[in-house]
Amino acid sequence: MYLVDAHCHLHEFNDMEVLNYCGNPSLGILAVSDNYTSSLETLKISSKCLNVVPSVGIHPWNVGKVNLGEVEAVLESARNVRFLGEVGIDKRFVPESYEKQVEVLRRFLEYASTNGLGVNLHAAGAWSDALKMLFKYDVKVAIIHWYTGPPELLNDIHSVGYYITVNPAVSLQPKLRDIVSKASLDMILTESDGPYVYRGIRMTPEKVLDVVHEISLIKGVEAQEVFSTILRNYRDALRAVGL
Ligand SMILES: [Zn+2]
Repeated sequence: MYLVDAHCHLHEFNDMEVLNYCGNPSLGILAVSDNYTSSLETLKISSKCLNVVPSVGIHPWNVGKVNLGEVEAVLESARNVRFLGEVGIDKRFVPESYEKQVEVLRRFLEYASTNGLGVNLHAAGAWSDALKMLFKYDVKVAIIHWYTGPPELLNDIHSVGYYITVNPAVSLQPKLRDIVSKASLDMILTESDGPYVYRGIRMTPEKVLDVVHEISLIKGVEAQEVFSTILRNYRDALRAVGL
């Protein structure tokens, strides 16, 4: 049994927790960042933990607060990195900075496209716009985090080999359950989005185990098959960017 956490804010966990996750042979973490400082923290953690793949970026919730110099600084830090994230656009929670978010995401996607990087994408309330941008920049592989967008877009996402992630909110969020029922298993990855708290649940990498069981129940597929397919998806996503 191997747990895949394809979107985790590992730098926000306390030292004891990081120590516990770091090097765990039955856990793979794609660690995302929220700004320049956390990008450096993520890189520091991943340099010591073989099971952690680093991703640097500026979270769309932070884009309104940063200058474009910080975007370039993050890209400087990306020299030995194969994923950008958490990057994206968000019309739902931070509509006031949407234009700037689009501008910043363009820069990240242009960089990802030129350098063959993958993208770990946040697109709340802007699913269709974000997908159009990924297509426009011909991004190699995208992991669309906590996908609760229109089910009609699942085919487009699948057709280019992109992935969506499902997290512990699946036990409570009808929209996410509906997406799981409609998405092909070979486009699904699991995540924690930890240590984010959703309706009182602190989401952590070990809770990915519950996510696998929920997916198994919703889809009527043996848990073992869910585990092995998600691990295969994760390895394929990493291989696509040369990892
Ligand atoms: Zn996140």
